Amino acid sequence: MCKYPQSVCIFIAVILFVMPAIIKKRKLLLLASVCFLAGFGSCNQASSTNQQTKDSVNKPALKLLGSSENESVAFKQNIDTTKSTIYLTFDDGPQKGTIGCYNTCKTLGIKASFFMVGLHQNIKSDGKQLVSMIRNGYPEFLLTNHSYTHAKDKYKDFYHHPQAALIDFLSAQDSLKVAKKIVRLPGNRAWVRANDITSSHLVSGVAHLLDSSGYNVIGWDLEWNFSHKTGRPIQTAEKLAAQVDSAFAHQNMHIRKHLVILTHDRIFQRPADSLSLAKFIGLLKTNPNYVFETVDHLPGLKN
Ligand SMILES: [Zn+2]
Repeated sequence: MCKYPQSVCIFIAVILFVMPAIIKKRKLLLLASVCFLAGFGSCNQASSTNQQTKDSVNKPALKLLGSSENESVAFKQNIDTTKSTIYLTFDDGPQKGTIGCYNTCKTLGIKASFFMVGLHQNIKSDGKQLVSMIRNGYPEFLLTNHSYTHAKDKYKDFYHHPQAALIDFLSAQDSLKVAKKIVRLPGNRAWVRANDITSSHLVSGVAHLLDSSGYNVIGWDLEWNFSHKTGRPIQTAEKLAAQVDSAFAHQNMHIRKHLVILTHDRIFQRPADSLSLAKFIGLLKTNPNYVFETVDHLPGLKN
């Protein structure tokens, strides 16, 4: 680093140039020339070193900025980087089986989300009671929107009319009194979050309409399948728990470290199947790295 400014070096040199004229000594003239050249050169070198120092300081600073940006995003998205989060979701309620699923989760102290259907609330005698039980169960339970008609199970026709489909979701939101703008498409695992629309061509129209209306759409990563013949679960509790472990081991999910499991209330209406649900939850609870959350805690959702 240059100790003196370049102007000081020049000033000293000029003084030394002038002095020989006064005291008439040639040796001093030579000394002045050397001083001028050395001073000018060292300042230029120092200036170049200064630039290098600035650059080498800037590089780590940029790295730090990147790191703090990541931390800031993690903070905003409420990501606990030390845990693997499981979102247990029950679709199509209120149905036979809803109360059993609610009781099992409550007894075992885990959080769960219920994607409910407006029409099912209105045709079931205790529909409104079951829906309000879930709605009032927050933050342990979350009520979410699974459409009003469930597309009448004619998905192609439903999704070919995106405006009508949007109105169907808005009707369910109003009828079920859903607090958060979170929906799941009937028969489709599309995702819509703040900066993410992942959908097939079939549902792309309604996915974009829901997005521009401020809604999040939640798909799923792993399903507890059921037999369409018997209406009962296919995987055993042990098999499904192993699938959960494998999904986390391979990070085979839409959002890293956040696993959404789809199942249906109605497949647990028999006592043996309800026990299977309890066993599955119990197996996951033995892993200290697993935590259960409701889907409003998924990272990257619009408020
Ligand atoms: Zn459904």
